[in-house]
Amino acid sequence: MTRLLLIGPPGAGKGTQAVLLAAHFGIPAISTGDIFRSNVKNETPLGVEAKGYMDRGEYVPSTLTNALIRDRLSQPDAKRGFLLDGYPRTADQVAELDKILVESSARLDVVVQLRADNKELVRRLAHRAEVEGRGDDTPDVIARRLDVYDEQTAPLIDIYVSRGLVAMIDGLGEIELVTKRIIEALNARGLELDA
Ligand code: AMP
Repeated sequence: MTRLLLIGPPGAGKGTQAVLLAAHFGIPAISTGDIFRSNVKNETPLGVEAKGYMDRGEYVPSTLTNALIRDRLSQPDAKRGFLLDGYPRTADQVAELDKILVESSARLDVVVQLRADNKELVRRLAHRAEVEGRGDDTPDVIARRLDVYDEQTAPLIDIYVSRGLVAMIDGLGEIELVTKRIIEALNARGLELDA
């Protein structure tokens, strides 16, 4: 049973690492951003509501995000553990996740903080804009997303540090190297495969 959070600014490589780590540990990678994007694409009521916020680089209101995560974590595959990518991002999302975990007598194992400096983040996001064409990877929206992260999400790291849960990882370098760093940090905290 492995329950992980991946926290880091836009462009730090969360999505890429989440998929690799989830495969390694045999748990689902759950990305609120991906779930919102698929709802936007399919023009569901949730997608219609979320789109404006996403296009501006703002956070979708926590009432929507919390309901979405509560539902997703109740699915059978998440009972064996999970890796959350991009949730929680605000203090009230931390509170909601705490509540969900208490209700299922579960606890987090490790919070992986993925770090990269702003210059590298902007460079990566500009590159991703060319490759993926994501609507929120334009220069203005990138700047806003980095600010929103600094204002609302970076402070959450202290909450998890005070709980002794944070593994701080340097997100610079080759993808495989960063994955290796994370797995080593998780092993050092007692998370082994088939443990
Ligand atoms: P991401 O793919 O994680 O960068 O998320 C893309 C966008 O989805 C964000 O800029 C937000 O608009 C929205 N989003 C994703 N996760 C959350 C969350 N936990 N809380 C609020 N909004 C979110």
